Amino acid sequence: MAEAKLIDGKAFAGRLRERVGRDVAELTAKGGPTPGLATVLVGADPASQIYVRSKGKTAAELGMASFDHRLAPHTSEAELLALIARLNADPTVHGILVQLPLPEHINAAVVLLAIDPAKDVDGFHPINVGRLGSIASGAPLDFPVPCTPLGVSMLLHDLLGSLAGRHAVVIGRSNLVGRPVAQLLLRLDCTVTVAHSRTRDLPSLSRKADILVVAIGRPEFVRGDWIKPGAVVIDVGINRLPADNGKSRLVGDVAFAEALAVAGQLTPVPGGVGPMTVACLMFNTVQAARRSAGMAINEADASGG
Ligand code: NAP
Repeated sequence: MAEAKLIDGKAFAGRLRERVGRDVAELTAKGGPTPGLATVLVGADPASQIYVRSKGKTAAELGMASFDHRLAPHTSEAELLALIARLNADPTVHGILVQLPLPEHINAAVVLLAIDPAKDVDGFHPINVGRLGSIASGAPLDFPVPCTPLGVSMLLHDLLGSLAGRHAVVIGRSNLVGRPVAQLLLRLDCTVTVAHSRTRDLPSLSRKADILVVAIGRPEFVRGDWIKPGAVVIDVGINRLPADNGKSRLVGDVAFAEALAVAGQLTPVPGGVGPMTVACLMFNTVQAARRSAGMAINEADASGG
């Protein structure tokens, strides 16, 4: 069998960013607001600092306003909630992103609940979770949806066109990735099976998948002989392993070399799903700005593609 075609998530994310940049220009040219993204980081976790910086930088590159709020590690929950209240009321802010994880003394659920659902560009507010959980087949995504799952859905829609009737197996049921991916694929009329750590005989279940989405956080866990020949494999996992040169390397949740020999199409790690996440955050922010101005979402947005 021929080697799988690699899915170039970086190129796809680049095209999505260009499109968001055009949307920003079009929105402001029509007299709409400049989309504004507020990022909130509590503490000095190095990885979180890198993420927040890259989000602010990308927003600025796309012509959006970005507001960077850095709070000391000992900031109280009440102080953080007061900042969120100010951002909720600020008409120049269309998206609010609170970088997780928060320090232990702050209840993340309380904080996420305090964000205005219309500005919840991470899609974690229970109202937006409920909207996604009850969405009808093909209905427009006219509310914020979690960024990584949205990226997975957009990639699949772009690669395959109609997904109707395809059997998608999603391994992982987290609120961050697995569940929203499953709901987005149901919306696109896949037949969806969700698997998790208690699933029996995962290899044979996986072999039934036309589309296999893996989001478990275990390095190279899914083996080549778990994959149906020709299947599309989306590897969401990001795992850091020690490399021979004393540094580290990133691997996904799928044994890449084995999968390459069997799958039809496959996302690499890095360079597959990862780059889509920040691009989808920008997409969510410009959509929130459009909705704040009473502008309808366009057809491509409605299809999630
Ligand atoms: P998580 O919250 O730890 O959830 C992991 C899920 O995998 C759980 O549902 C768990 O099942 C399931 N699982 C664990 N071990 C399993 C096993 N042996 N067999 C079957 N299922 C198993 O992780 P997450 O936040 O969803 O993240 C998953 C991966 O995606 C991580 O590597 C993370 O770094 C990566 N990620 C990447 C991006 C990106 O931008 N590309 C974004 C977010 C996350 P139970 O529910 O039964 O425990």
